Amino acid sequence: MTQEFTDQLLKRIEARAEEMVELTRELIRYPTVNPPGEAYEPCARFIGERLKARGFDVQYVRATGTPGDNDRLPRINVIARWQGATAGPCVHFNSHIDVVKTGEGWTVDPFSGVVRDGRVYGRGACDMKGGMAASIIAVESLIESGAPIPGALEISGTVDEESGGYGGVHYLAERGWFSKPRVDHVIIPEPLNVDRVCIGHRGVWWAEIQTHGRIAHGSMPFLGDCAVRHMHAVVERFERELFPAMAQRHTAMPVVPDGARQSTLNINSFHGGAEEQTEGFPSACVPDSCRMIIDRRFLIEETLDQVKGEVRDVLESLLRQRPGFRYDMRDLFEVLPTMADPNGPVARNTAAAIRQILGREAQFVCSPGTYDQKHIDRIGKLKDCIAYGPGILDLAHQPDEYVVIEDLIASSKVMALSAWSLLNGRT
Ligand SMILES: [Zn+2]
Repeated sequence: MTQEFTDQLLKRIEARAEEMVELTRELIRYPTVNPPGEAYEPCARFIGERLKARGFDVQYVRATGTPGDNDRLPRINVIARWQGATAGPCVHFNSHIDVVKTGEGWTVDPFSGVVRDGRVYGRGACDMKGGMAASIIAVESLIESGAPIPGALEISGTVDEESGGYGGVHYLAERGWFSKPRVDHVIIPEPLNVDRVCIGHRGVWWAEIQTHGRIAHGSMPFLGDCAVRHMHAVVERFERELFPAMAQRHTAMPVVPDGARQSTLNINSFHGGAEEQTEGFPSACVPDSCRMIIDRRFLIEETLDQVKGEVRDVLESLLRQRPGFRYDMRDLFEVLPTMADPNGPVARNTAAAIRQILGREAQFVCSPGTYDQKHIDRIGKLKDCIAYGPGILDLAHQPDEYVVIEDLIASSKVMALSAWSLLNGRT
């Protein structure tokens, strides 16, 4: 890429800074809250119509029959493709259009796109409508440069990432939208910070554990068997054995923040006994059931069998040792860890672009949680995929979420340079 071309491309993006901010604000104004999955269709149409007007081939794909899909809340995805004049690879930018609920504590309207102190505020500003706007401006600027583009550029706006991606990337990946020969390289503009290249994420296992007891009158608990006390014994074993063992396990995955560079387990919820009350009076009963949901995040060095096995071992040993102990365990959700090659084309070219735009070395990281890369990797069998985008990861899902305008612009430049290198076969 000649210096002159690069300079012009970067100037073009800078000249469109205001437009990038406006686009971010327009995207924020669609309250695409998931669950339940509001306003997906108008948001997808807005993106599709913009890109169609610029010469993209635009398709809408409804994920019929996936969780939450119905005629009132259709799971509509948009995929736009711009085909260059000659053959070459396809670089795809994938953003999820859904956002999590707003929650309490906002000092600005979460859906108006307030601009203040060099930042755009709103639900999704950081995760990840800002990143989507940056990628759209990057791709449009490349096309408008008039340079002959070998290969194709794609932009997708997909749904339901925040609830597992089944109506979005999972659905599309199963139908070939994220596989070769259609697509070669994928950048997901999730908010991992402007100078970081995210190559993967830890694994997840969610499970429900239930302990059983026997109901009796609360004044004579010795006649029953308390399921909450049985569950307490489980948690006590976790405290004594499992948590210390997990804390010893560190990973070679560059997970951020540091606290997530080991195995973790969250006790998601814990319910036991009758919770109904009559005018403030609970019923006097010994609980015959207690349920706990655990959220275990695991490392690429651990197998899912090991992870499940060590919880099962705790329960089985209580079964042998604790009188009256009975349990059930049910899997709720699982995702294997994934990690792309930090020396793969998309990671390396993006890191080079970060060096060029920001004047510092890129940091290679892994995400503590999962995102849609899992479906692209496992279903699409496409390994050359990273997450890269503006926004501070810690702000995602928080009140007063924002994205820094300067980061929007810098990330857009990085995306444009990286895509241009990839299209021109720099591997
Ligand atoms: Zn996200």
